Amino acid sequence: MLLTHSKIVYNLQSDILFIPKLKQNSMDLQQLWLAALGELELAISKANFTTWFKNTFIIEQTNDQILIGVPNAFTKTWLEKKYNKDIITSLRNAGATVKTVEYKVQTTPPPAQAIPQAPAQAPSVDAISSTPVATSDRKPSQNTTPDSSGGLNPRYSFEHFVVGKGNELAHAAAIAIAKKPGEIYNPLFIYGGVGLGKTHLMQAVGVELLKNFPDKKIMYVTSEKFTNEFINAVKQGDGKRFKEKYRSVDVLMVDDIQFLAAKEQTQEEFFHTFNTLHQNNKQIIITSDKPPKAIPALEQRLVSRFEWGMIADVGAPDLETRIAILQTKCQERGYTLSEEIIRFVATSVQNNVRELEGVLNKIVAFHQLNNQEPTLESVKSIITSLASSSRTGRITPKQIIQTVTEYFDIRVTDIIGNSRKKELVTPRQIVMYLMRQELNSSYPNIGQELGGRDHTTAMHACTKISKHIQENEKLNQDIELIKQQLYTQS
Ligand code: ADP
Ligand code: MG
Repeated sequence: MLLTHSKIVYNLQSDILFIPKLKQNSMDLQQLWLAALGELELAISKANFTTWFKNTFIIEQTNDQILIGVPNAFTKTWLEKKYNKDIITSLRNAGATVKTVEYKVQTTPPPAQAIPQAPAQAPSVDAISSTPVATSDRKPSQNTTPDSSGGLNPRYSFEHFVVGKGNELAHAAAIAIAKKPGEIYNPLFIYGGVGLGKTHLMQAVGVELLKNFPDKKIMYVTSEKFTNEFINAVKQGDGKRFKEKYRSVDVLMVDDIQFLAAKEQTQEEFFHTFNTLHQNNKQIIITSDKPPKAIPALEQRLVSRFEWGMIADVGAPDLETRIAILQTKCQERGYTLSEEIIRFVATSVQNNVRELEGVLNKIVAFHQLNNQEPTLESVKSIITSLASSSRTGRITPKQIIQTVTEYFDIRVTDIIGNSRKKELVTPRQIVMYLMRQELNSSYPNIGQELGGRDHTTAMHACTKISKHIQENEKLNQDIELIKQQLYTQS
């Protein structure tokens, strides 16, 4: 274990800085949370830790209750369901007197919790996001979660975006739109794999538009947020305000639209929002991990509308682009790495830009904390240690089984086995459904993966889950959570 009592220690396995345990009265809430996170990180897998604890913070403590801010409703449900006990334990171990923990969706920490500016490398909660960890001039407002000015993050500008073969079309379209919103490509639909700059590019349009047309109403939302707001509005009989809010903007950006899959009512609402905006020549920008046609359970009428404008994909960056990205990111951080080191990093990390950035953050943090100049050797050893701990690659049937069993707290043998208990049958059917949806596996193959079941069993399971998902919001949410977990792990 890397925790020591005398100094801050950086754990290479993730982007978080550990701080030593302190007595409660000398520790503000921020530090308390970081200490608790330090312990949680050791208790759960890296993928889970990063997924579920990114951009979380303590909002307040009242008597023996602590309120934790989380970035979205998914995270809230997951923390309540899966990690509540661990969180309480780790808070207690960090010195807090706490009986219960509550969670609230909130994207910015309260001002009282301003992250300490000194000493350098003051740990921040979103140190576990992809933002640079070790730059000492970070301010809390530079949170990676877009939250203010229409949900835009000024860091995601065109100036900070490196253009290469993989993204030049999407970039050109984005630039054109930033000059003449609503006039050229409407909607702009950007799709591509995780961490390839879709959010950055989409936000860059917004950031640029705000500069050129300060009066325009620009709105950025994730499709998750759109869905949650819509559901809440309906519950509270506040549908009218919701409609007005989204139909009165000049530019609407919806990130990760694939999460609208199978959410029929929200799709319906989005359809009307889309039409109103489009008819009024208001710009719409959408991102997704797949092209419109390939998004499962997306209504045909939405698919066809998404195809009205420009569809641009972003692909993985080539070596030259990766080098340019590293150079840009070093410049942004005011950090120098030799050409040789940059080339080495760019050659070693090929998957996506987020990963590239994460590795760079680790290199910078490690050397700053140890007060060392980076050498090819030291960088190599960091990358080797990261490679051995990372789990990359495509999703496999085994991962689906693993994720579903973790989610429902059951054993793999329960999924493969023959028990007909309801608490096992549903997860088993979800596994089959996901294998079909996400991997496009054949029914006989699915049966095979699940302990040699007949293909008709697999067919039945897929039909049943597809049908229930439409009417059962809980099931729908379970599956979304599992999918999210699946894709952030891989
Ligand atoms: P996506 O939305 O496709 O998953 P993001 O837009 O969140 O990916 O990008 C992940 C990280 O990589 C962000 O920090 C972003 O700034 C950075 N990034 C991605 N592409 C580029 C690029 N071409 N130039 C500079 N930074 C990039
Ligand atoms: Mg994104």
